[in-house]
Amino acid sequence: MRSTYSRLPALRIDLRRGLLCGAAFIESPNHDARPAGARPELIVVHGISLPPGEFGGPWIERLFTNSLPADAHPYFRTIADLRVAPHLLVRRDGSIAQFVSFRDRAWHAGKSRYRGRQACNDFSIGVELEGSDHRAYAGVQYRALAAIVEVLCGAYPGLSPRRVVGHSDIAPGRKTDPGPAFDWRRARRLISQRLARLSAATALRRRFRGAPGRAPARTADPTGGSGI
Ligand SMILES: [Zn+2]
Repeated sequence: MRSTYSRLPALRIDLRRGLLCGAAFIESPNHDARPAGARPELIVVHGISLPPGEFGGPWIERLFTNSLPADAHPYFRTIADLRVAPHLLVRRDGSIAQFVSFRDRAWHAGKSRYRGRQACNDFSIGVELEGSDHRAYAGVQYRALAAIVEVLCGAYPGLSPRRVVGHSDIAPGRKTDPGPAFDWRRARRLISQRLARLSAATALRRRFRGAPGRAPARTADPTGGSGI
């Protein structure tokens, strides 16, 4: 199920649907409603490769859509039953896919804590980068991430470039991604280079403030809070 991913086009958020225009949408069932009143206030950066250390296959999408064949690789047997998905995935070539609407709670962070607040899935947006802890991420992935952070910050008033963390920051001791190979200085530099554009985004934010409300939470994360 290779998909047609978008390549760093001009990104834009459709607030009504909570979608990143310019990204391929591959719907994942691994989400539910955010708790009443919850809104995006944090961006969580992850790293994933399947099998670990291999890039370019269809397996990440298959995991996020609950169709990973457990017998295709020994490692898959250990994860095939996970029910996980981020909002976005950035492949090695910078192409972007979306699995869950930003309006909804994607099951990506698992048991986690940010500045004393538990359950980061409630109030975060999860961005997976195809990569592994100890191999350099691609330059185009940094550029894609910076573009994503820019449009998200423009669309959601609770977000800011400072509120971008790694999974390992909110689940220390349990998660290591995006790993030491992820160059935070480079990422932050690219993000701050885009800060100038945020003034325009702020105007957009004002224009769209008062987006439709969200339904109350229905179910708990059935992954048992493992995350990805
Ligand atoms: Zn993760």
